Amino acid sequence: MVVQKFGGTSVADPDAVRRLIEIVRAARARDGRGPVVVVSALSGVTDALLTVAAEADAARVDEALAHVARLRDRHLAMARALAGGEPLAALTAHIDAQFDELTAVVRALAVLREVSPRTLDVIAAVGELLSSRIVAAALAHAGIPGEWVDARRAIITSDDYTRAAPLGRETTAALRATVLPLVDAGRVPVLGGFVGATADGHTTTLGRGGSDYSGAIVGAGVGAAEIHIWTDVDGMLTADPRIIPAPRLVPRLSFAEAAELAYFGAKVLHPSTIHPAVERNIPVRILNARKPDGAGTLVTAEPDPDGTGLAAMAAKRDLTVVDITSSRMLMAYGFLRRVFEVFERYRTAVDVVTTSEVSVSVTVDDRRHLDAIVEALSEFAEVSVEGEMALLCAVGDRLRTEPAIAARVVSVLEEVPLRMISQAASRRNITVILRQADLPQAMHRLHEEFFG
Ligand code: ASP
Ligand code: MG
Repeated sequence: MVVQKFGGTSVADPDAVRRLIEIVRAARARDGRGPVVVVSALSGVTDALLTVAAEADAARVDEALAHVARLRDRHLAMARALAGGEPLAALTAHIDAQFDELTAVVRALAVLREVSPRTLDVIAAVGELLSSRIVAAALAHAGIPGEWVDARRAIITSDDYTRAAPLGRETTAALRATVLPLVDAGRVPVLGGFVGATADGHTTTLGRGGSDYSGAIVGAGVGAAEIHIWTDVDGMLTADPRIIPAPRLVPRLSFAEAAELAYFGAKVLHPSTIHPAVERNIPVRILNARKPDGAGTLVTAEPDPDGTGLAAMAAKRDLTVVDITSSRMLMAYGFLRRVFEVFERYRTAVDVVTTSEVSVSVTVDDRRHLDAIVEALSEFAEVSVEGEMALLCAVGDRLRTEPAIAARVVSVLEEVPLRMISQAASRRNITVILRQADLPQAMHRLHEEFFG
């Protein structure tokens, strides 16, 4: 049995949901049971709900209520396009009740002028609670026994509203009690992603983009054979398509490689979201809902046995390099501590660090406190700053075992001035820092060498 998670674009309109229905039908025919379906809110709805909350907070009641009315119409239109008869009447009653409640919340908030994180979650959760009800009804209407499961009874979290953490044991028990009996009874459970509740029943959300996380939590909790993330891209690509016009699809990646790529700017899958799947060693497949026959990218604990060279590349722009040269102490002990204390004091994360006997270079992408940081560092070091830099990161598990690959990376970039080079302890990536203007050329060369 598989867990199939559908992102906002895969439930954006009736046609998208019709594609979803056929994808679910095919999985059912293939596996003989399931799948378990996890859905995002209809595309754009979470943003719209957060706007409603902000407007209520600012006492702009009319704007907020106009937004709520538009959202109600959109959900009702979806319901009418995808369901019928008695179930449609029940569905529209749910949608109306949900929006009546939201209307009452907006009016109350506009009076109180105070939107707490807890209230924000009640508002934000509406998107997934409704999209999942609509999809469950649409499946049933299409002859597939979809059954709505309230995610607030299946995913039990901490009370860190707006970024709640799932509680492992409680959630596994809740998923086994709510989802598995339905699967055993031949049904297709449908849950909203992103949403959960505390043990005492307060609605929570897992943070923006949290539906992938929900997909992995559900997959781990029910012991799925695979987790399928249905989205609007073909899978992970070998390079950024804004720079390389025809990148290739990466057929298979290890979890570790996927995590490094995501960290360095590949947007498809965020590493923390698949953590529950990693722990349980459940393969994750990234697939395009518009091209359901595509192979997608398979992410597994083990690296691709057929892989050669690199898995993929990622880039990050708009970085600033800060060079810090010890004025007196050279590399005296305590120097690095003082350097990093300054970054810590200004809550500025550094991405890449290289050191030599007398100096440290770091990259930062948050420039907000740069002036203050430079001033503080200047008390004990010479500091220079260079902007408009970029990071290019070549990722592959094989870098760990085959030194020749790293040598190839560096020699291909021979003619590109490299500002910093680093291979960190994981040895799964080689990262170079270069001038932003040189990034396209460097990426082309690397791509040609390893994927051309
Ligand atoms: N709807 C939520 C968001 O937009 C969660 C998700 O789609 O992953 O952040
Ligand atoms: Mg998403």
